[in-house]
Order: sequence, then C-alpha cells, then structure tokens
Amino acid sequence: MTPSLESSLAAELAELSAAGLRRRRRVLDAPCGRMAAVDGRQRLNFASNDYLGLAGDSALARAMADGALAWGAGSGAAHLVSGHLAPHDALEREIAAFTGFARALTFSTGYLANLAVTPTLAGRGDAVFADKLNHASLIDAMQLAKAGGADTQRYPHNDVAALDRLLAASRARRKLIVTDTVFSMDGDLAPLPLLLELAERHDAWLVIDDAHGFGVLGPQGRGNLAHFGLPASPRIVLMGTLGKAAGVGGAFVAGSETVIDYLLNRGRSYIFTTAAPPAVACALSASLRLIGDGDARRRQLFANIARLRDGAAGLPWTLPASPTAIQPLIVGDNAATLALSQALWERDLWVPAIRPPTVPKGTARLRISLSAAHTADDIDRLLAALKELT
Ligand SMILES: *Cc1c(COP(=O)(O)O)cnc(C)c1O
Repeated sequence: MTPSLESSLAAELAELSAAGLRRRRRVLDAPCGRMAAVDGRQRLNFASNDYLGLAGDSALARAMADGALAWGAGSGAAHLVSGHLAPHDALEREIAAFTGFARALTFSTGYLANLAVTPTLAGRGDAVFADKLNHASLIDAMQLAKAGGADTQRYPHNDVAALDRLLAASRARRKLIVTDTVFSMDGDLAPLPLLLELAERHDAWLVIDDAHGFGVLGPQGRGNLAHFGLPASPRIVLMGTLGKAAGVGGAFVAGSETVIDYLLNRGRSYIFTTAAPPAVACALSASLRLIGDGDARRRQLFANIARLRDGAAGLPWTLPASPTAIQPLIVGDNAATLALSQALWERDLWVPAIRPPTVPKGTARLRISLSAAHTADDIDRLLAALKELT
C-alpha cells in the first residue's frame, strides 16, 4: 500500500480519536456469563445479549462438543452444494415447529439472514417500508434492495398512521413492511398486531426481526408473535437470531413454504456462504429445548427487569418504558454518559455507553442488558452504584 493510501485512513482514525469515538475491544478471559473477567478483575456483566444465561451453559457446550465429535469441525461447503448435514436439517424442522411456520432456513449470523430477506423479496417495481430505528443489518438490507431497483421509504418510529399513508400511496407490485420487534437500543416493542392489520389491508408482507424477542417473550419464549397471540401468517417473514437468548450463534428465517423455498433459491447471502459448522446446529437443537423448558429462567429475567425498573424510578435519568431485557437509562449528554459508564466500570460494573450516531443526538444512554443469570443482589449492586453517582 502506498503511504498516501495509508495516511488517509490514519487521518480518519485520528479524527475518531479526537471525537472520543475510536472503538476498541475488551478481551474476556472467561466464558460469557453473569461475570466478565477483564484485565484481571471480575466485573458484573450488563453488556451481553445473553438474556437467558445460556452462552456459558455447560449442557450446551457439551452438545456442541458431542456434535463436533460426531459430525466434524466444519460443514465443508455451502448448504446448496454439500454443506447441508443432518443436524442442520433437523434444526430447521425444529425451528419451524417451535415458531409455528411451515418452514425455516438457518444462517451463520443474523446479519446474513437479514441480507437474504429484503433484497431478495424486493427489487425493481417493489417497495420497502422500514421503521426509522431498525437495526443496522436491516438498513443495509434495505440499501441492497434499493441498489436492486426497489423503492425504499423509512417511516417515523412505530408510527402506524404514517406507514398507512405511505402504503396507501404506493403503486408497487410487492410491498414489504420491515421492522425490529424489539428495538435494540430502546427495548420497546413494535405494534405487531397493528402492523399485521396494515399488511393485510395493503396486501404487503410483514418482515420482522425478532433478535431480542426470540427466547425471551411469549409462552415458552416463542417470541414476539406469540407474545401478542398472533398466528404464523403466510404474510409474515420471521427472522430470529440464535446468538442472543439462544446463547450460541446463527439465525433463522421462518415463513411459508413458498417464501422459504424462494429464499433458498435466490437469497445470495444464503447461497454463497459456507454452512455453519454442524456442531453449532447440534448446540442450537439443545438450546431450543432449554428455551422451551426455560420458564424458570424467564421468571428470573422478568423479576430482574421489574427490580431494576422499580429501583431506577428515583434516579435523575430517564428510563423509557421497556418491557424487555434491554433497559436504556437516558443521560443525554455524550461526555456525561461516557463518564457514568466509566465510573461504573471502576466499580466493577460493565454497562456500555451508547452514543450518536447509534442513537439520536442528545439521547446518549447506558444500555443496561439484563439476564436470567443475574441475581437480585446483582441488580441492587448496580442500583446502589447509580445512586451513588447521581
Ligand atoms: C444482533 C442483531 C442482528 C444481527 O444478528 P447477528 O446474529 O449478531 O449477526 C440483527 N438484528 C437485530 C435487531 C439485532 O439486534
């Protein structure tokens, strides 16, 4: 690389440093869990998305190890070539049964799963309607659809009336409504019953990303559709991630037989990538059973959520209504949020600061991520530290 190419990158990195936006990683010296071992200290972990405390679960680790011994380390190819092994196929059927949809496809990550849905279902002559606060992977998927000729529009967060007007004005052949079910920086829910009604009225598909609902919400942790008592309508394309509550990694898309077969034939991020190791599918099959039998874990998680919300009511920061494991404590100012996160870190409490552009200007926040692995004492320790820091 020539020096000038390098120096343009270095200049941008220096700008990031100057703005306090240069990112770095922390190395954990032990499995993901209630505590995070970093820099030789044990810290209470309020940073992971391991909502049920399954990532470090020994039964899942054993299922993965047994899976590797039985099926090898790698899948060897993409699913459509020769990489679709029996554990992958079994997992698909288990996910379809668990979510109630006709069929499911699995992916190595949620990012890839989202890239397979929107740009594959929407091209020239079609239209995509996306919530303003959708996850980055859904935004990138929308950009790909746009590059493929689709009309793309973003509606104000959860604004069903605005979405209704956009849909009514559209002459597109195929219409897709695309939304997170639980918004990842706020923890609030999309109004799925109203969105499904709109989808029916305007003959649109409803594409939902249940990354933070799957495993957590609804009976047996079946997700946000089950939480609202909604059926697995053929109009719905459900994406769920398997690296958060499920504690392993990967993702799925579930839907009608036709939609799933279409994605299998046309979804570039499904076709042109090596299938996940079969041992991952083995661990995920075990995880699905733990999720289904996980009422005790969910009870603990929801008790933790209630305890945090009760205790935080007297704090000088805003805690918007969130019924989920994601509890945003909105501080506002970027520097104040960073300082608060740093002060908690020094007290061995790991709570990440989230700043613009990830969230709107003036709404920098602590993103407190709760888990079934936390105890009531853990929540009290965090609350006591926050009170001390007011
Ligand atoms: C985490 C997340 C993804 C991406 O899933 P990965 O499996 O981590 O790639 C997609 N959508 C939402 C809403 C997420 O929170």
